[in-house]
Amino acid sequence: MKVAVVGLGIAGLSIAARLALAGHDVTGFEQFEPMHENGSSHGDTRIMRATPGEGEVYVRLARRAVDAWRTWEGLAGRPLIEWTGGLMAGPRGSPFVAACQRLSREPAALLRGDAIHPLTRGYLAMPYEWDVFRQEDAGVIAADATRAFLLRQAAKWGARLAHGKRIAAPIESTSFRIDGETFAFDAAIVAAGGWAGKLLPEFAGRLAVKRRVVGWFETETPRLLPVICIDNEEGVFGMPAPRGYYKLGLHAVGGETDPDHVHEPDERDAALLSEQAALLLPKHRAEPVRLQRCLYTVTPDENFLIAPSAAHERVLLFSACSGHGFKYAPVFGELAEEWLNGAPSAELEALGPHRRGNVNRLGAAKA
Ligand SMILES: Cc1cc2nc3c(=O)[nH]c(=O)nc-3n(C[C@H](O)[C@H](O)[C@H](O)COP(=O)(O)OP(=O)(O)OC[C@H]3O[C@@H](n4cnc5c(N)ncnc54)[C@H](O)[C@@H]3O)c2cc1C
Repeated sequence: MKVAVVGLGIAGLSIAARLALAGHDVTGFEQFEPMHENGSSHGDTRIMRATPGEGEVYVRLARRAVDAWRTWEGLAGRPLIEWTGGLMAGPRGSPFVAACQRLSREPAALLRGDAIHPLTRGYLAMPYEWDVFRQEDAGVIAADATRAFLLRQAAKWGARLAHGKRIAAPIESTSFRIDGETFAFDAAIVAAGGWAGKLLPEFAGRLAVKRRVVGWFETETPRLLPVICIDNEEGVFGMPAPRGYYKLGLHAVGGETDPDHVHEPDERDAALLSEQAALLLPKHRAEPVRLQRCLYTVTPDENFLIAPSAAHERVLLFSACSGHGFKYAPVFGELAEEWLNGAPSAELEALGPHRRGNVNRLGAAKA
């Protein structure tokens, strides 16, 4: 089948690679250059949580993903995930922390927040009143290395990846006109992140595009630390990054934006992140050494949305939404293949337009 994939962030790359491997004639279109920093997938690292507290569907997806990450690592010839362990934390009674504990295969007792300082040799600190769940099956993904690997692997498996090609919005069928030439496909998968609502306006009301900023913090004597996800008002998340830095982001802070006009990070972003660094990272300098902006595409219930277009035959919206999609990357190609084959798994159905209540509401903290 001739398949177009619109958008080559982590979702589009995974889909293009998998469908090419399955024998489809795949062309991926990307408006920017390879490894660009404009959408949602750029940056050195992302958090992996094999037991995400977002709900059972995500746990099933993550478990599928863990096996598939191993396959990718074999093909890449290098590790793509470092299993550092994680600390899922929040004010006492946090539903997110309770869900992490409940969904875990080894539901150990919760810790009080002040246990974290000695546990991490003084590198991380949390208030006594917080619940903390230690998750062994969490770690950090080498995100840019994964994108670089997929760019190579998708091409090796026969996908054509056309960069610098912007598909005109809105999409009107599975045929596209690019540089005066018409390309016709049997199916199109729109994995356009924050731009998906422009390409498929029927979904625009359900896809809010939000600006987020992450910052890197340094310490004199770096040490490998666990990832953190905190269910507080700001939804702080943190993870080790290359060169001994620790990266912090705020899952719940940042307004709506036009993906084509996103403000660069400013002093206010630095101040908000510094405030959290001063609380959580006693051995790091509170001023970030670097800031980077990124886009979240958020649905009203903060779940992913993978939905066939009602307006156009054989067009699928594939939106790895709401700031927690990277960890499932290897499964995205599998889900797209299930849709093409008309054989959806329970996971694909649960993320579709007619959710049947088996996707849980998400807590504030996740990444
Ligand atoms: C700050 C931040 C931290 C995050 N942390 C984590 C984490 O720790 N763990 C985790 O699992 N997830 C995390 N996420 C979420 C994860 O990164 C995203 O879910 C994922 O990257 C989404 O990928 P995507 O391919 O859907 O979107 P994108 O990466 O935005 O890709 C969409 C692509 O489509 C292209 N495109 C759009 N329109 C067109 C067009 N008309 N023609 C051609 N190309 C087009 C864009 O240029 C872009 O490259 C984080 C996200 C952010 C922003």
